[in-house]
Amino acid sequence: MAIVVSALKEATGENRVALTPDVVSRLVKGNYEVLIEQGAGVNAFYPDQAYQDAGATLVSRDDAIKQSNLIAVINQLDATTIGQLTAGQTLIGLLAPLTDPDGIKALAKQKVTALAFELLPRTVSRAQTMDVLSSQSSVAGYKAALVAADKFSRYFPMMITAAGTAKPAKVLVLGTGVAGLQAIGTAKRLGAVVSGYDVRPASRGEVESLGATFLTTSVSGAGEGGYARQLTPEETQQQQDELAGFIAENNVIITTAQVPGRKPPLLVTQKSVDEAKPGTIFIDLAASDLGGNVASSKPNETVMTPAGAQIIGAGDMASQLPAAASDMFSKNVQAVINYVTKEEALSFDVDDDVLGELLATYNGDIISNRLRGAMNLPERTSSRPDQTVAADTETKGADQS
Ligand code: NAD
Repeated sequence: MAIVVSALKEATGENRVALTPDVVSRLVKGNYEVLIEQGAGVNAFYPDQAYQDAGATLVSRDDAIKQSNLIAVINQLDATTIGQLTAGQTLIGLLAPLTDPDGIKALAKQKVTALAFELLPRTVSRAQTMDVLSSQSSVAGYKAALVAADKFSRYFPMMITAAGTAKPAKVLVLGTGVAGLQAIGTAKRLGAVVSGYDVRPASRGEVESLGATFLTTSVSGAGEGGYARQLTPEETQQQQDELAGFIAENNVIITTAQVPGRKPPLLVTQKSVDEAKPGTIFIDLAASDLGGNVASSKPNETVMTPAGAQIIGAGDMASQLPAAASDMFSKNVQAVINYVTKEEALSFDVDDDVLGELLATYNGDIISNRLRGAMNLPERTSSRPDQTVAADTETKGADQS
């Protein structure tokens, strides 16, 4: 019997869809049966007809949930839908494992196999085609630069006209990971004068290769696996003080700084916001309910300061470029489906170095050691002889690209 894969319509406000017609047709050719909840792709400009043409069957939400072996979503399901899932079903998406432990516990209780993209070991080469965090950050960084250019009251490039010369905009990107580098590249292409800053000194080469200036502070915070570490309160204060000067010199500040599973670091203080010149644009990609990189930013809201600076809390930039973001997300989902399909069945090796982390829950247990750590559970050791999960970490380091 064919494996049944489905995509559900996302909650209001989310425009992306987890499976696109292109990936559906590839899955159908690969012998999967695909069910799509009616209207699932409409906000990403993929109408129901496109899915039918690709070989999917359009169904109600209830039928998609009841009949699927694997359900692909962008965001974690609501509690009611989780309650409808049955033991042995697989759910894949951005399941917020580190910020919504209750959702994960509910999935474990239902014995759902939950694959959470946030837990993917991104430095393992084999996992790169599955890397939703990178694909969506890249979209978000691009869109952030476009929104900044749109909201800014002057030109981004230098303009020489008969009516005078306009100076190019000065754009500062704080946090130069995947999203930040994409924002830098886009702002450069629009003609702005761009600089970037990251607490990881290793980022300098990437920033400079895009033609931007790399700024440094006296605080350095490289952590594990290519990520930044959380700074101490003293380091945070020091960093904020040193960044304030850079911030004041720029017209547009795009912030993207994240420390996985933690509250985003505050890089732009209230004082810097209050002192920002009229017309300054802050775009905070890290804005979330936990807080953001810019004081007083609110997710998906724009705040105007009394002095006339705008703070755009951009928690959903990828959703604002929904077709491109869905194309990439869907390819990432397809890569995982291929990875876990063995002889026309879904198969999950909890000791595999990718799945052992990507799996939030399996057969009622919490699998990922990163998630177990966050939930204060003891480390899981491999069931294979002489191979502990801790030893796998070394392999990951060697695999880094
Ligand atoms: P992220 O979204 O977790 O964070 C964004 C950026 O914020 C990072 O560059 C981080 O260093 C920075 N940051 C965190 N705290 C900061 C602070 N206090 N001040 C300034 N900057 C701060 O990161 P990401 O974009 O997902 O990627 C992080 C790293 O992982 C990058 O080095 C990236 O190249 C690497 N990466 C590697 C692979 C791979 O090997 N295949 C894949 C994806 C990402």
